[in-house]
Amino acid sequence: MAFESLTEKLQNVFKKLRSKGRLTEEDVKIALKEVKMALLEADVNFKVVKQFTKSVQERAVGQDVMNGLNPGQMVIKIVNDELVSLMGSETTELPIKPGNDMTVIMMAGLQGAGKTTTAAKLAGKLKAKGKRPLLVACDVYRPAAITQLQVNGEKQGVEVFSMGDKQKPVDIAKAAIGHAKEHQQNVVIIDTAGRLHIDENMMQELADIKENVQVDATVLVVDAMTGQDAVNVAKTFTDKVGIDGVILTKMDGDTRGGAALSIKAVTGKPILYVGMGEKLTDLEQFYPDRMASRILG
Ligand code: GDP
Repeated sequence: MAFESLTEKLQNVFKKLRSKGRLTEEDVKIALKEVKMALLEADVNFKVVKQFTKSVQERAVGQDVMNGLNPGQMVIKIVNDELVSLMGSETTELPIKPGNDMTVIMMAGLQGAGKTTTAAKLAGKLKAKGKRPLLVACDVYRPAAITQLQVNGEKQGVEVFSMGDKQKPVDIAKAAIGHAKEHQQNVVIIDTAGRLHIDENMMQELADIKENVQVDATVLVVDAMTGQDAVNVAKTFTDKVGIDGVILTKMDGDTRGGAALSIKAVTGKPILYVGMGEKLTDLEQFYPDRMASRILG
């Protein structure tokens, strides 16, 4: 489970604080140094950690003890609040249009991040909300990806639109939207090609789709297990293609959790959902406050 080690370390820091009746500025300083180390070890981005501890320090020092909270509890509350704010405070929803208006979502990400699986998970979630989704196979480089989408779509009871691997992704996307209009499907989820590394062709392909099709939301899928790499990938996609949000997969693994804590601060883009397993139901909405509570244990 993610955050195990971070949670344990933070709890140790807080235990020491709780045992003190009064806190000196020095106590807070030492505690924050330990919090800083714990966050760095959890693979949180360095700049994010620095800013984070600075904010906590500023709020903790010179603040009156709040009603009913001892100084130790107060520091914990401040750390909690700052964690929530670091992750974006509010839950961000995908901009799904009401009624029968069509929403087009483009999924992007590196190969292996979990994009195809997540596209199918998302389709299932939307279907459960009464939407009529259509999955679109635009990964024309890996025939296996098309098959995988078809298999997953079938499991979800969601139609998968494919034109094989000989057409251009942008043409497939256009045709899929025509198909969705004809069949009264109102959320089109485009699964694009992933590559092992970020490259110009991938970026160009995504840009082409965005230029020729009205994409309402570009969702980047990144693998939490890759830590700071996931954050770097998110930053590059934000700068080069433009994304509206991130889905962080494999949060069920023993990831150290740094990506979850850094993505919003580094890219400005919210985490929308987290992948919690391989099953097609293992997709959870992202709640910054619940995640903070989970981290603090
Ligand atoms: P793509 O190349 O980005 O389309 O990635 P896939 O959808 O093929 O996923 C790659 C692997 O990651 C597959 O074995 C998935 O079952 C697995 N996977 C995807 N999301 C999750 C998740 O949230 N948790 C776990 N444990 N595995 C996941």
